[in-house]
Amino acid sequence: MIPYGRHSVNEDDIAAVSTSLRSDWLTTGPLVEQFEAKLEEVVGVPTISVSSGTAALHCAYAAIALEPGDEIITPPITFVATQATASMFGAKIVFCDVNLKTGNIDPNMVERLINSKTKALVAVDYAGHPCEMDELREITTRYGIYLIEDAAHSIGSTYKSKPVGSLADLTTFSFFPTKNMTTGEGGAVASSNPELLQRARRFGRQGLIRDSGSFKLPVDGPWHQEVHEFGLNYRLPDVLCALGISQISRLSDFKRKRRNIFDLYNEFLKDIPGINVPFEQPHVESNWHLYPLRTPAHLRRNLFEFLRSSGIGVQVNYLPAYRHPVFSQLNTKSHEFPNSERFYSEEISLPMHNEVSDEQISFTCEMITKFLKIN
Ligand SMILES: *Cc1c(COP(=O)(O)O)cnc(C)c1O
Repeated sequence: MIPYGRHSVNEDDIAAVSTSLRSDWLTTGPLVEQFEAKLEEVVGVPTISVSSGTAALHCAYAAIALEPGDEIITPPITFVATQATASMFGAKIVFCDVNLKTGNIDPNMVERLINSKTKALVAVDYAGHPCEMDELREITTRYGIYLIEDAAHSIGSTYKSKPVGSLADLTTFSFFPTKNMTTGEGGAVASSNPELLQRARRFGRQGLIRDSGSFKLPVDGPWHQEVHEFGLNYRLPDVLCALGISQISRLSDFKRKRRNIFDLYNEFLKDIPGINVPFEQPHVESNWHLYPLRTPAHLRRNLFEFLRSSGIGVQVNYLPAYRHPVFSQLNTKSHEFPNSERFYSEEISLPMHNEVSDEQISFTCEMITKFLKIN
């Protein structure tokens, strides 16, 4: 089976990890800062590492002090972690429909959802394609709410020549094995706002305060540390930062490879009637995490099964989040989100990762063509 997504680990990655295993640190040691400095070079603003993309979102919501009664606006076409971690703070999730071409939140639909309780707009860069950040920023500035970017798919992408990470108040990344680079499990939070980033970091490090300028208690000795707000342990260990440092040095190679795969699929598929190849805005440069093909909705299920039975590990990303039973009390009506529903009914993700060969791409496209001819 050709997997739809897969990590790429080479001998350099393995050497980096084994060197770190022989060092004095397994968890928070010197490689954490080194990895964070490399991340800053790529995303353009200071960045902290955490133990997953989910943890990164949780830390970002802690940074803006999300609390019961607050509302956040999010798109349905995402992995449910975008919403789950906000719900954990008691925030109400408000869904906003997506643009049918990109699967990203539609800036034209946002404004009508904003009220006095809205605390943040959370955009998701679906498949690696950055959201319309200028339009979204204009809205969040006008209403005085935070702009958060769930960039789990899009490290290495640029928007109007600016790197993803430098565009929102807080940006979160995931280094899960299928994502654009990996640390096994891992994630990061980026922000140009030092106060927000410090709050995110504290939340991921059990709320511990070690700098004397912030102490509220009298200091009994050099061991002193104190907690003002509870946090969790979301540290990314040195061993995984070693893998991250090695992987991030390969990120531009990964991006090139993903771009080549994207172009080759497009070449084979763009003229076939009835299907839509992924759309890319001229002002962005996506580091493609997925290749989301849109097929005729009534054929999608059979095409999925046909490709799977031919050894092609396709996937569907994603069930609109409001459909998860956990949101049943929101009483969301599917017909209020025509683009999300349509996108979901048509979408199929073709294999996209560093190890997909040209032969596998042409085979996949041949099978799609064959299927569409007989159906
Ligand atoms: C993968 C993913 C996450 C969660 O990241 P993990 O590292 O798996 O916790 C969050 N949001 C989106 C859009 C994702 O694809």
